[in-house]
Amino acid sequence: MAIRNVRLETDEILRKKSRAVEVVDDKLRELIDDMIETMHKYDGVGLAAPQVGVLKRVVVIDLYDDHGPYVLINPEIIKEKGEQEVDEGCLSFPNKFAKVIRPEEVTVIALDRDGKEFKLKGKGLLAQAIAHEVDHLNGVLFVDLMIPGTLEVITPEK
Ligand code: ZN
Repeated sequence: MAIRNVRLETDEILRKKSRAVEVVDDKLRELIDDMIETMHKYDGVGLAAPQVGVLKRVVVIDLYDDHGPYVLINPEIIKEKGEQEVDEGCLSFPNKFAKVIRPEEVTVIALDRDGKEFKLKGKGLLAQAIAHEVDHLNGVLFVDLMIPGTLEVITPEK
């Protein structure tokens, strides 16, 4: 496993559309493991493959609860319900936060790390994370959706 370089906000790769994964193999699982390690290193709740420079439809999410990391390959949001106004950040935008509107509930179909299809319904923070990460696969960033005037830049403590 290895920490991968996280691409930052001005990197053009973040604006590209990722391609569907065709084969779930050991090489892909290595990418997934690296993504999980990278997400944990930076205390992120989610990470999408384009953020580490790989244009594949792969997402990892971890709410740091009993479930452990979620792995979503070729995620497809099939249902959205309700709305929530949330504070959001992104590992590609260190120290920046803004308010966005996300669905309150999201249902997604994806493949797991063994290539098996599963369905996941997320509410609250999980719904927010799924929506945020799937956006990454389409080159959409949270700053595109932010409520005007809500961007905050936090100065990190030394
Ligand atoms: Zn992000």
